Amino acid sequence: MNRYSGAVLVLSGPSGAGKSSLINKIFSEIGDSYFSISTTTRSMREGEKEGVDYFFVSEEEFQQDIQEDLFLEYALVHGHHYGTSLKPVREALAEGKLVVFDIDVQGNTIINSRLGDITTSVFITPPTLSELHKRLLNRSTDSQKVINMRIANAKREIQRVSEYDYLIVNDDLDKAAELLKIIAIAARLKVPNDEINLFVQKWEDM
Ligand code: 5GP
Repeated sequence: MNRYSGAVLVLSGPSGAGKSSLINKIFSEIGDSYFSISTTTRSMREGEKEGVDYFFVSEEEFQQDIQEDLFLEYALVHGHHYGTSLKPVREALAEGKLVVFDIDVQGNTIINSRLGDITTSVFITPPTLSELHKRLLNRSTDSQKVINMRIANAKREIQRVSEYDYLIVNDDLDKAAELLKIIAIAARLKVPNDEINLFVQKWEDM
């Protein structure tokens, strides 16, 4: 990808970790940012809105977008496809924004390989697996089968927590939000490798 003046903040962690609540809580306090809305083939949950939570598409439409190379990254999660569209991300980065992604561990690997020098990654989790189970049950938007799948996936994902720059244990929303805010503000200070080289060249002015 080309040179950008923006930066990237990747948030991963099991559904039920509180990623959306956290990001909503801090969004107005972290400067000019763009939250990347993913495209998915999973069906809409109660309370979700098209174009706000996701762009909901059929498997055929998703495959078409893959063919047309429209995704920065995509992955199969819990049996459904999820993908990040390249164009709005590119535009937001060119405008110097902090681009925030809520994506899984597979997505984090790809973002790091493509935009690693401007990426900061955070894994967000409830304190324990049983707490996660409780939250998913309380949310009551998913069937038992879906909850079991999410628990199994969470057990797999937590094994890859060392691939992230930071870990936030979300047992207190206010405290977790404060930590995420600090990380988001610092994330913006990451400078792309080529800009560092230019800076060093200019700095050596004698
Ligand atoms: P949910 O179905 O609970 O909204 O999301 C399930 C999982 O998919 C979450 O871990 C979320 O981070 C991940 N996810 C959402 N959008 C994307 C995306 O565009 N790419 C990838 N790789 N994962 C995504």
